[in-house]
Amino acid sequence: MDESKSALKPCPFCGGEAVVHAYSHDPDISDWYYVFCKKCVCRLEVSTNRNPFYTKMEAIEAWNRRAERTAKVNKVTRVSSVIRTGRCGDCGYDVIDSYKHCPYCGCKLDWSE
Ligand SMILES: [Zn+2]
Ligand SMILES: [Zn+2]
Repeated sequence: MDESKSALKPCPFCGGEAVVHAYSHDPDISDWYYVFCKKCVCRLEVSTNRNPFYTKMEAIEAWNRRAERTAKVNKVTRVSSVIRTGRCGDCGYDVIDSYKHCPYCGCKLDWSE
């Protein structure tokens, strides 16, 4: 295995240490994996097509690429003069504009209206 690929990059939000975990399931169903940051507790749970990661490698590679993807924020709503809310164009997660990355699918968020 290529070491550079199997190593998790630090969290793109805060630079914290990231770890891979497996969801344990019924033995008849294969486990899936997610990555989370120990420092700010953000996660990466799904791939761009919203499938779970069935191997550790898939989860690690997606985490390492997360900061390179950009999604347009949909349904941008101005809540106050400083706060906007919207929905990640990639995975549909509800986000607020202090987020530079989606906490669910991990892509960069484009807040331009
Ligand atoms: Zn973090
Ligand atoms: Zn997302």
